[in-house]
Amino acid sequence: VDEARIAEDVRRVLDSLPPRVILMAAAKDRSVAQVRAAIRAGIRHVGHNYVQEAQQMVPHLGDDVTWHMIGHLQRNKVKTAVELFDMIDSVDSLRVASEIARRCAAANRRMPVLIEVNSGREANKSGVLPENVVQLVREVGQLQHVRVQGLMTMGPECEQPEQLRPYFRLTRGLFEQLDRMQLPSVEMLHLSMGMTSSYQVALEEGANMVRLGTLLFGTRE
Ligand SMILES: *Cc1c(COP(=O)(O)O)cnc(C)c1O
Repeated sequence: VDEARIAEDVRRVLDSLPPRVILMAAAKDRSVAQVRAAIRAGIRHVGHNYVQEAQQMVPHLGDDVTWHMIGHLQRNKVKTAVELFDMIDSVDSLRVASEIARRCAAANRRMPVLIEVNSGREANKSGVLPENVVQLVREVGQLQHVRVQGLMTMGPECEQPEQLRPYFRLTRGLFEQLDRMQLPSVEMLHLSMGMTSSYQVALEEGANMVRLGTLLFGTRE
């Protein structure tokens, strides 16, 4: 592990971001040593796509960071996810949200969640369609052991980051609409958009949480 290089890249990115923006390290396919290096350099939020991968990492790296689930969550993995993660950023159905609430009730917890938006309206992609976001936020907000704290989106795969701008803009519009609605148990705090290739555009479109893997850790093998 090139700890010095990871540290340098983390510090450079942290220094370049506006202070209101949360930098999340996307840890998929990375080793415990790589993520530890990022945490030592100042990372306070780490995202995982898979529950099983997180199980191999979270116990080794402890409590100084906020662990986010950012991948599609299956209902049968919710129990483990609730034990591992501090936040679930990929909620896209009432079914999964209800299961999170049920598991959190048993553990006497309240889970912060983001609602994932399928901003590109892609078939077979996770996320709720834009026209159904408000309704889902309303419903999830009514669950006692869950608190909605914002929105997350990926957007479609594009050759040019600029092509993602409309999808980020659409998601930001929903974020602001929901903020104005002031729904009970709903707080629009986090707008999570942008990855290595697209985070600059996402910031321009109002993201206050960016999820970076390649830029911090290098290209994946
Ligand atoms: C992999 C991944 C990222 C980070 O992607 P990079 O292009 O490596 O920065 C961010 N968000 C999600 C949901 C991911 O799966």
